[in-house]
Formats: sequence, structure tokens, C-alpha cells
Amino acid sequence: MNNINQTVSFSKNAANVFFHILTKCNLKCRHCYINKKQHGDTILPISDIELWLNEFASKSSQTNIIFLGGEPTLHPDLSTAIKKARKLGFKSVTIDTNGYLFNDILSKTEPYEVDYFSFSLDGATADVNDKIRGRGCYEACLSGINKAVSKGFNTSLIFTVSSENIHELEKMPPLLKDLGITRFFIQVIGIRGNSADSRENLQVSRDKWLDLVPAAAQKAADHGIIVSYPKVFLEPGEIFECAGLCADNYFIFPNGRVYRCPLCEDFPIHSMKFENNRLVRCPGINEASLFTLDIPEGCVMNKLIQPDNICYRPDKTPEYRIACCMLKQEVHIDI
Ligand code: SF4
Ligand code: SF4
Repeated sequence: MNNINQTVSFSKNAANVFFHILTKCNLKCRHCYINKKQHGDTILPISDIELWLNEFASKSSQTNIIFLGGEPTLHPDLSTAIKKARKLGFKSVTIDTNGYLFNDILSKTEPYEVDYFSFSLDGATADVNDKIRGRGCYEACLSGINKAVSKGFNTSLIFTVSSENIHELEKMPPLLKDLGITRFFIQVIGIRGNSADSRENLQVSRDKWLDLVPAAAQKAADHGIIVSYPKVFLEPGEIFECAGLCADNYFIFPNGRVYRCPLCEDFPIHSMKFENNRLVRCPGINEASLFTLDIPEGCVMNKLIQPDNICYRPDKTPEYRIACCMLKQEVHIDI
């Protein structure tokens, strides 16, 4: 692709810093993965944000930074954090937002400072989206996208697929095109945070996933949009890889915990932490000990926290392995 801005990368050898600068949010999405029991409700002061960004300075040119929350635009100093990340030379700067765009953020930043504003929408219609994310969210998100596009910002969209909204995925490509979205990230629901407390089965079967997701991704790509989606269900013979071993991802929380795998975030098994504003390794057994386990089901954390997507043969061997949710396929047409 020519002259396309960089953003978060879900590939082998990618480096991404997912920086949760606060956990506070104006919404209460039914599948919200933020776990305040684990990560507190601190709003990280800008002085700490700057010091923590400094810890990645030596590899900033290869690293994508993603500011997120909670809702990161609720942080009064987000624009200062963006400018600091730019000054440190990060490969790309992305803001994940629910679309409400608080603190007049579009006026406090310029399109050259932010590679992407990445909006979350979980339905192609208000009916489906708002049942998951709350009444009025659909209109607010579309309005936020329109404002960002009209000011010249690049916009991407994240759609988290669950049993509640997979039927709407095929309606997304024309909507994305109309909105001026240039990148589309399809995610699979993780059973963590609020989803772990839900009594509904939010996970999608292999047949349904394979029937609907690759086709919707291709349809969006045919509109000129770059699409990323996780494979989830590996075919026989496909190699399983764990991003904890083959990529360089950091999920930072304002209480100082740093995880290398998002599926571990409901547990105090982070492998790194900020101590006196320095990034240090945690001693003892932690998430890193899980990454090297070789099990026939593929992803160890999937097997531990959300095994309902695995099917077994009568001899108790799994029919397929579950891929790492941090390693995705990209579909696009060359322009
Ligand atoms: S917008 Fe994000 S942080 Fe806020 S409630 Fe929804 S999922 Fe959670
Ligand atoms: S999701 Fe699974 S495969 Fe991916 S980093 Fe975590 S433990 Fe490894």
C-alpha cells in the first residue's frame, strides 16, 4: 500500500505499547474488559505518563503506541501525552476511543500528530450496537467519526465479534466506506472483565466464524479498506505461535501493572511492572511461564479462561487449535 499511515500491528515481530492511561469511562459496555478490581481507578498523571513513555524511547522508532482507557479522551492531558509520544519518535500514535471525544481533543491535536483515531462500534445498526454499548452510543460514535474525518484525521474502526452481533458484520463494509474509515479491525470477544461475569455464551462457533468473518473482511477490503482479523481456529498443519514469544507487546495499566498478553489481565500474573517509574520484570511464576507451554489446544490462556470454543474428538484430542488473538491476518487490495 502507498503512503498509508502506520498503526497498531497484529503481526509476528510487531512491537506495540497499549497504554491504558486511565480506567475511567463514560460508558458501561456489556462486554467491557476493563477490570477495576485488578487495575484500580487511578488517572495516571501526565508526569508519570511521560516517564513511562521514556522507558520505551530506545526502541520507539519500531514501536506503535496506542493510548486507550477506559476512555482516553477523558484524560485532561491526552494531547500532551500524544505530543510527547511524537517527540520520542514512536512509529505510530493511535487513540482508541468510544467516539465521544471529550476535552475537545480534535482541536488540541493535529492530523500529523495522530496516525489514527480508532473508534469502537459493535453493530452496523443502533439497535444491535446500543444493546451492547448503551443507548445513544451508535449516533455518538458516528458523529465522532464524521467530525474526525472532516478535520482530516485518519480513522479506523474496531468491531468486537460475539454471538450477539456476528450477524451484523456483513453490513459493516458499506457503512465503513460511507464513513470514510480506512482500516477495519475485527476482534474476537475475550471472556474477561464483564464478559467473564456474563451468563450468556458470547463465544462464536468455528462454523459460524468461518462462514461469516473472512467473507465480511474481504468485502471491506474490496472497498479499499485495510482489514485485520484473527484466524481464531487454525487449520490442520497451520503453525501455532504465541505473541508472548514472537511479538513485543505491552499492556500498561495506570496502577503500574504491565502484561504481555491481554487474556491474562483478569489475574495478578503480569510479568512486568513500573516501579519508581522504571519498567522492571516481575520475579517468580507469572504469565511468561504460560507462553512456553505446548498444549494440543493451542493458546493456553484460551484453554484456561474461555474453552467453550474448543471441540474434542471422541478420543479427547482437540479437533483444531486456537490461534493467538494477537496475531491477525491482513486483507487489502493494492492501490
Ligand atoms: S468504551 Fe471501552 S472502556 Fe468504556 S465501557 Fe466500553 S469497552 Fe469499557
Ligand atoms: S492470547 Fe494465548 S497465544 Fe496469544 S499471547 Fe496470550 S497466551 Fe500467548
